[in-house]
Amino acid sequence: MEDSLKKNRAWIEIDLSALKHNVEEIRKILPAKTEIMAVVKGNAYGHGIVLVSNYLSTLGIQNFAVATLEEGIKLRESGISGSILILGYTSIESLKKVAEYDFIQTIVDEKYAEKLLNLPFRIKVHIKINTGMNRIGIHYTNIDSIKKIVVSPSLEVLGIFSHLSSSEQYHKKDIEYTHLQINRFNRLLDHLRKLNISFGSVHLQSSYGVMNYPELEYDYARIGMILYGCHSEKEMDLKMSLDLRPVLSLHAKITSVRVIEQGEFVGYDRAYQAKAKRRIASLSIGYADGYPRVLSNKTVVFVNGSYAFIVGRICMDQMMIDVTGIEVKEGDIVTLIGKEEKIRAEYIAYQAGTISNELLSRLGSRLQMISIEDSKL
Ligand SMILES: *Cc1c(COP(=O)(O)O)cnc(C)c1O
Repeated sequence: MEDSLKKNRAWIEIDLSALKHNVEEIRKILPAKTEIMAVVKGNAYGHGIVLVSNYLSTLGIQNFAVATLEEGIKLRESGISGSILILGYTSIESLKKVAEYDFIQTIVDEKYAEKLLNLPFRIKVHIKINTGMNRIGIHYTNIDSIKKIVVSPSLEVLGIFSHLSSSEQYHKKDIEYTHLQINRFNRLLDHLRKLNISFGSVHLQSSYGVMNYPELEYDYARIGMILYGCHSEKEMDLKMSLDLRPVLSLHAKITSVRVIEQGEFVGYDRAYQAKAKRRIASLSIGYADGYPRVLSNKTVVFVNGSYAFIVGRICMDQMMIDVTGIEVKEGDIVTLIGKEEKIRAEYIAYQAGTISNELLSRLGSRLQMISIEDSKL
């Protein structure tokens, strides 16, 4: 579809030059031996898994991480030839596909490992270690389980990894806990080396693991959020600072403009009442597109150089804004998430009571996607 047709109603713009810039920034702080493993789960945090991964490939990124088998298949079918690690669970019945598409499966725990030991075919795996997150992983003291995996003829062990639960936090207790996890992981690796158990490549940090613990040197860093140029939360106290540029912006159109008198209402439940004469514009986007309904009467959008308040309840497919004093007409483009301060993903997510990761990854499949190469910064 032509880009002009994609701008019919509501769409996402992906700024590839911002993505490139972020990769360069991240590479600056990574140790020389550490490669980026690009985390593209959740449709690349709403940025379009195929678009983002193919572009990252052209920047020399060869390692990708997804959450599900289906996401991996999407990548392979779009021509990605690099390594693809499935971070989450794949059912035993589906493991044949892991072999077929040459994926790397995470071993999610001891029980899962037992079931994999005698597979009638061979798959590549990374062993996940639970160092204190207590989500998935083999317990960091369970050498026996790891030994069995390593000697199994059906498993080709290419790596071992763990995940930090609190690397983005800066309170003393959180830092101590992160060091505890790091030490558990490193002690396990030392122990395995002493026993001559080989485990391939090693990785531990995700975005905030890298930004707060840059002294660590592993083979990969699993980078999600900061690739996309924003932070999870509005205010974060991070050890390293990076000049990140938001990759995604969300747009819709003004479909209708009207003037209402003092005392009139807008939208469902009459949730907004005009205190004076107001000019109200309707937009071609709603919560079914992933824009959170909790932002009703709560935040702003950006239109023709000004911020405009959302008024009334956000509907499934439409919403209304107050454009009193702003030059707008039907067909004008409105930005709901973008580079401007009050509509940055961090800020919008904060007002919706969540983090950017959730806000962005929930953007709906109904949105069109457009990529641009030249940053308008
Ligand atoms: C999602 C995820 C990441 C990426 O985290 P970011 O904070 O977005 O960089 C890394 N590792 C694992 C295991 C994940 O689930």
